[in-house]
Amino acid sequence: MENITETFREAVAYNPLQTLWDLRFGWEDVLRSPLWPVLSSVTFYFICILPFTVVDLYGKNWQWIQKYKIQPEKEVTAPLVMKAVIQTAWNQVLYILPATIAQYLWTPPTPLPPTAPSMWEFTWQMIAMLIIFDFQYFVWHMMHHKSRFLYKCFHSLHHQYNSPFSWVTQYLHPWELITVGFFTTVNPWIFKCHPLTTWIWNYLNIVISVEAHHGFDFPFGGHKWIPFGLWGGAIQHDMHHMKPMTNFQPYMTHWDRLFKSYWPGTRAGGYKSEELLKFERVHRERRSAKNSITNGRKID
Ligand SMILES: [Zn+2]
Ligand SMILES: [Zn+2]
Repeated sequence: MENITETFREAVAYNPLQTLWDLRFGWEDVLRSPLWPVLSSVTFYFICILPFTVVDLYGKNWQWIQKYKIQPEKEVTAPLVMKAVIQTAWNQVLYILPATIAQYLWTPPTPLPPTAPSMWEFTWQMIAMLIIFDFQYFVWHMMHHKSRFLYKCFHSLHHQYNSPFSWVTQYLHPWELITVGFFTTVNPWIFKCHPLTTWIWNYLNIVISVEAHHGFDFPFGGHKWIPFGLWGGAIQHDMHHMKPMTNFQPYMTHWDRLFKSYWPGTRAGGYKSEELLKFERVHRERRSAKNSITNGRKID
């Protein structure tokens, strides 16, 4: 009986993050380096988009995956991909590389504490940072659509693609790339996060932003299982590229619903849900009512 109680106690006390954190032994010099967060994030980004690049360019007849495409009529061609690759490469060379060198020269090595964060601390910090980042980018994004100046000078570049694919994730004006990098970096400082939490936060952000741009409505997408339609993900952001004055929130939907910029997304295979059809109907009716008032005034 005592043995069972002991095993139970051990199971409750077990922290899987500690097992993960213990993998650092032998790699301390690499992980302590200020280059690690940037280089591992850049590498992780390319690992994330590579499979989608293969599907987009070489898997046009792979129905098992192409059936999930949100805008199936829009073909991802090699020149379209190349244009995004060139912009991404320029951003990496002109902005990320100097920032990395500056960090290497002026940032002290990261201290590596002996213990991992607890599961509770890790989870609440991750959720809090997600909610805060989502709000920060929502405000930035809305401002860069509502102001003609900001849109034309900075954000319009990202909107050269109205049907996103993975490389569009970082097809950004440098100002937008710097802002996103700043929000991502600053949030772990607010909560004084453990290095493991900070690194996983960086990778999670990359996964979510690639998910918002890969252009597929997969059955395991966040919008399928997170309740109350709280998660926008791929379908909402795909709609933002089709209808740029809607869905300013990068990941979730609550601020868009509150500020009336929410617009339901198209589903796999270009399928329009009842909700989307209703939105389109109401919008059409409002527009024709507005037009008839304007025409009436003109006749008067
Ligand atoms: Zn986008
Ligand atoms: Zn936008």
